[in-house]
Amino acid sequence: MHAKKNIYLAQVYVLHETPMFCTTYFPYAVGDLWAYARQEPAVSDAYELQEFLFLREPIEDALARIKNPFFIGFSCYCWSTEYNKALAQAVKKKFPDCLILFGGHNISPDGKLLEELPYVDFLIHDEGEIPFRSLLLELNKDAPDFAAVPGISYRNGSEIPTNPGAVLPSVEDLPSPYLEGLFDPLVAAHPEIQWSTVWETNRGCPYHCAYCDWGQQNARIRNFTMERLMGEIEWFGANNVEFIWCADANFGIFDRDEELLDAMVASKERMNFPKVFLCQSAKTANERLFRIAHKLTASGLDTLGPNLAMQSLSPKVLQIIGRKNLDHDTIAEWIRRYRKAGYRSHTDLILGLPGETLESFCAGVEKLFALGQHGGIFYFPCSILPNAMMGDPAFREKYGIRTKRVVMKDILVNTLDHGNPILEYFDMVTETAAMPRDDWMTANHFMFLTGGAHGFGAMRLIAMFLHTEQISPYAAFYMRLLEFCQENPDMLIGETITRIKNYFRSVQEDDPELLTIEGFSFGRMTELQYFFSCAALEPDRFYSDISIFLRQFDLDPHLFGQLLRYQRESILLPGAEEKTLEFDYDFAAYFDAIYDGTPIPLKKETTRLHFSFSYDLSTLEKYFDIIVRLGRMSDNAFYQVEHVPPEE
Ligand code: SF4
Repeated sequence: MHAKKNIYLAQVYVLHETPMFCTTYFPYAVGDLWAYARQEPAVSDAYELQEFLFLREPIEDALARIKNPFFIGFSCYCWSTEYNKALAQAVKKKFPDCLILFGGHNISPDGKLLEELPYVDFLIHDEGEIPFRSLLLELNKDAPDFAAVPGISYRNGSEIPTNPGAVLPSVEDLPSPYLEGLFDPLVAAHPEIQWSTVWETNRGCPYHCAYCDWGQQNARIRNFTMERLMGEIEWFGANNVEFIWCADANFGIFDRDEELLDAMVASKERMNFPKVFLCQSAKTANERLFRIAHKLTASGLDTLGPNLAMQSLSPKVLQIIGRKNLDHDTIAEWIRRYRKAGYRSHTDLILGLPGETLESFCAGVEKLFALGQHGGIFYFPCSILPNAMMGDPAFREKYGIRTKRVVMKDILVNTLDHGNPILEYFDMVTETAAMPRDDWMTANHFMFLTGGAHGFGAMRLIAMFLHTEQISPYAAFYMRLLEFCQENPDMLIGETITRIKNYFRSVQEDDPELLTIEGFSFGRMTELQYFFSCAALEPDRFYSDISIFLRQFDLDPHLFGQLLRYQRESILLPGAEEKTLEFDYDFAAYFDAIYDGTPIPLKKETTRLHFSFSYDLSTLEKYFDIIVRLGRMSDNAFYQVEHVPPEE
């Protein structure tokens, strides 16, 4: 009997270790490829999978475990490509005959990477199941014919041919790597890991957003079978999988998604797992999505709330990127409806899209605040994915898109933590014809400030008041605050913004200095978290700076003093305690009405309010976890405020 050839599959991710958890992802993509390929007897007879390489461990540790490899397949995404290159190079040096396969989202549709990386032998493009299996079959022949393998690039003498892609597989034919037991050894070998995983109930997206590679490649949605999905939910529960990241582009688009969620909730109730389920909601608003939001929140499975994604509010940008959003009235109605029911929604915005100007970006943020989306704007930098329409050089030229290869900050933190200096990068848009670089910088600073001050809430109520009373629109207010910070670098607020700006610049200069605050031990601290933390740790200085800034708005001094006090008292600070306070105005009713979209005049009357909260904030670590790490996602930083009768 012939000896089987040793193969390895790598899909690496960081190990997130904090005082509260230690987690990483199952290598789902490569597990899926192997589950499919090994169905073919000629593959399972010829090859023996030795190991999934799933962690960004030191290269020498991984290398030491690799024995006599015939090939290693690497799944490349923006968070793993440089690590993969380093490991592949080391493997090729130690085992010159070992074949190296690169596939995944970060592989461009041509064979250029083979020119750049002499140690890589094959590229697999697009969905990998059929090309991977065909390649394995071909590699096992005495005289392989790589021209017959669909969807790959390979070396043929001095040439690098790229074969046309395969017909996409029917996902009903794909076995589940979970149910096939492929990850059972990982679970058994690593009891210290609280596992996270990617779960797909379907593939494809009917939309065609220019910055994304999903809709370009797979416009037709292909559903996995309910039998498989129900089995996987059971497996997650039985194997203590903590966190499910649903990879569907539009969860909730089908009736059956509600049924799947019911099973997920039942699993949590019965087996205590999974604990968190996050998904991208369908790009619509209907009763099914409302019920899904309810089930996710009521079960505690979702901490983010439904996504009313917009990416941009500029009609011109939306036309360029080929996207259609819900109309603004509908968005406002659903933000408020979710809020009333006790679920926070969130809205994604991308900075740097073609056609977006500084003015239109800031106007978009202002509009979202006005629509009621105060705490849940999630900002993303525009980046270029190789298989998206925006990756096409002609498209980039047309819209004047310039990029900078920028280090990925999340990987940076965890990479450094593990003493491994391999950094990962992405191509961030730093300039377009519509947004010159200086404007782009200003837009970033505006984003950090609004995210930190308004999103977390440290200044939100003041901004809401000024906007509602037509004293200053939101965007103008925060732009003036930005100028004030720049003019007063010695104030806390000026120091904070300067530090954030320096950090942002250092990331682009490839020499990042992390934002850190003593006691925050949850991985990388974002610019927004840093801003809010500085305010929360030194509230006297922060609100004293703000009171100086607010003088320019010429408010009635008594009202101004009361407003500032109400703002400060509404925010949970370290060491927070329940309290009952009296104000000369009914701010609670006033701000509730604004949140509800039906503003009322601010009533001048003595009002007693009780401020409470339901979290355990007994230590600074818990404060950082609940208020800073998770805070912006669900307005955690605010006290619950209730009217109480006046004292006798
Ligand atoms: S961004 Fe979302 S909606 Fe647009 S094509 Fe990609 S997956 Fe589809």
